Amino acid sequence: MDFDSHNTAMALGAADLVNLATPGLARTRPYEPPPDAELAERTNAVLQAADRHATALGAADVARLAAYAPQLRAVFEHLAADEQDGAVGAANALLAQLRPFPVLERRRDEPWHLYHRSTAGDEGSDWAARLTLGLAAALGSRFASRLGVCSAPACDRAYVDVSRNGTRRFCSTACQNRVKTAAHRARTQGT
Ligand SMILES: [Zn+2]
Repeated sequence: MDFDSHNTAMALGAADLVNLATPGLARTRPYEPPPDAELAERTNAVLQAADRHATALGAADVARLAAYAPQLRAVFEHLAADEQDGAVGAANALLAQLRPFPVLERRRDEPWHLYHRSTAGDEGSDWAARLTLGLAAALGSRFASRLGVCSAPACDRAYVDVSRNGTRRFCSTACQNRVKTAAHRARTQGT
């Protein structure tokens, strides 16, 4: 996906947070978000992957950020159901709630960088604003169809398709292989 790399990183971060912090099914197994300490550690790893200058959030901010995960998930679910208007509605509702604003900031010895914060005033909401903006940038571009939910049975994990041809339908190669194997089995049994 070649829409700008910052927005791509934020959209990928949104998918990772959704998969970490919302319950459901992951590759045929029921999934529950991990307990607080592990959730905090893994959330900070997601944020670090999205922005290497990210400073670690404390437990309270992780909980605030995780609370936005169901709303972020709704964007992916609407797109998976081919409901672009629904996805835009979900993203706009988050933007109206978070009211992101740009601010120039400097982390440690890095050069000044344009970040977004939320008018909610806490760092968890700041991150929710950044991740939402990444999804909104995709929704407002020809890359909206690159966001989705795994189409394998018994899996509902979100993904962002960053492949060149944009034909991804699964959260992982595990799900892709499972569906391929099942299709092959159905074919060979049908003959
Ligand atoms: Zn899957």
